[in-house]
Amino acid sequence: MSNNQQYDFDVTILGGGLVGATLALALHQQGKKVLLLEKKPPQTSLSILSQSWDARIYAVSPANQQFLSKLDVWPAERVQAVSSMQVFGDDHGYISFEASSVKVPCLNYMLENRYLLAKIWLALAENGVMVAESRPRSVKTDIWSAQITLENNESYRSQLLVGADGANSWLREQVGIEVIASPYQQQAIVANFSIAEPHQGCAYQWFRGGDILAYLPLPQQQISIVWSTANAEKLTMLAEKDFAWQVAQAGQFKLGELTSTTPMFTFDLIKRQPKTVISQRVALIGDAAHTVHPLAGQGVNLGFADVQCLSNLLAQTSDIGSWSLLRQYQRSRLLAVRMMQHGCDGLFRLFANDDLPGIGWLRNQGLNLVDCSWMIKNRLIRQAMGL
Ligand SMILES: Cc1cc2nc3c(=O)[nH]c(=O)nc-3n(C[C@H](O)[C@H](O)[C@H](O)COP(=O)(O)OP(=O)(O)OC[C@H]3O[C@@H](n4cnc5c(N)ncnc54)[C@H](O)[C@@H]3O)c2cc1C
Repeated sequence: MSNNQQYDFDVTILGGGLVGATLALALHQQGKKVLLLEKKPPQTSLSILSQSWDARIYAVSPANQQFLSKLDVWPAERVQAVSSMQVFGDDHGYISFEASSVKVPCLNYMLENRYLLAKIWLALAENGVMVAESRPRSVKTDIWSAQITLENNESYRSQLLVGADGANSWLREQVGIEVIASPYQQQAIVANFSIAEPHQGCAYQWFRGGDILAYLPLPQQQISIVWSTANAEKLTMLAEKDFAWQVAQAGQFKLGELTSTTPMFTFDLIKRQPKTVISQRVALIGDAAHTVHPLAGQGVNLGFADVQCLSNLLAQTSDIGSWSLLRQYQRSRLLAVRMMQHGCDGLFRLFANDDLPGIGWLRNQGLNLVDCSWMIKNRLIRQAMGL
């Protein structure tokens, strides 16, 4: 059998969130012919975005910061470097991490989802990457290609179709990939606050029984919080001022009184493990390929690592989307993704579980023990930094 098909694109990417848009840019810079499909292109006016703050804040690892800088999309402004982190257990357990202990300038960088996304979309426009504002209607694949038909009946054939269409991926469902979804029976509340005491680049996290609260430093004397809890409804019904007080109290008034600067948003927390992340001429990346508990702030970092892995593999081959390349992609990402999912899961369950006698004491002693071991601590820091 020979391949006498004409391709419209080398790669079509469905979903222009942070992960899909970054892959589109990386592949375009390799000289690939790319189409990016997005149903709802983002706001790209930096002056409009600079008038307020996004409550969706990410901790981006230094490894991914370097990757985004190479693509020339890393913002020079509205970014906060995190130089230390303090973690509190629910019974005197404590561990701290300092960037200086591994001789690096910072542990990670905090920045807004929408500002980084705008930078990437501006770069897509400057580079002339083809973007279609549309949803797909159907998809067909054969051993040589994937064909996607849009709602307006336009049809495009490419060597590889990438699903970057988020946690509830349409493409994943269309190609029949089953997903094991394990809900945490919790929601995450996110919101930003101005603070009374300076954060000095320190992030804080409290394990409070099943609840996990994080204070993430932002520029301009602000923090973003992520509060994972089974009682989100009760908290989100509070008046803004009362909620701010609850957050300050749960955080032991570490940064003094808090004042809300954004509305709060909630997300359902679900671990998703698709049975595979590849199918004939199809690869999944980002949240379409995995979701994790946000306690380690690693969701989008895993997605950027998918992008680096897939784009590196594609740079080395002319048969874009061949089965052997797709299998190599799947194999390369499986271990890192599973380790992160199981690590977050284990930590969550350790602190959510009070059924076993002595477990509360044990987990807090565990934190204290690790705090005393610089070797384990440094290893944990390097792993979280993607080094
Ligand atoms: C509370 C919370 C806090 C988090 N904090 C962090 C953190 O600190 N650090 C971190 O690394 N991660 C964090 N994450 C995870 C992070 O939000 C996700 O991992 C990341 O946004 C995934 O990016 P993505 O591009 O894969 O998917 P998405 O951001 O979901 O993008 C998918 C895109 O596809 C488009 N799309 C979907 N379906 C279609 C369709 N049919 N047709 C056309 N377009 C379509 C959507 O419009 C969207 O633009 C957090 C998550 C939560 C819930």
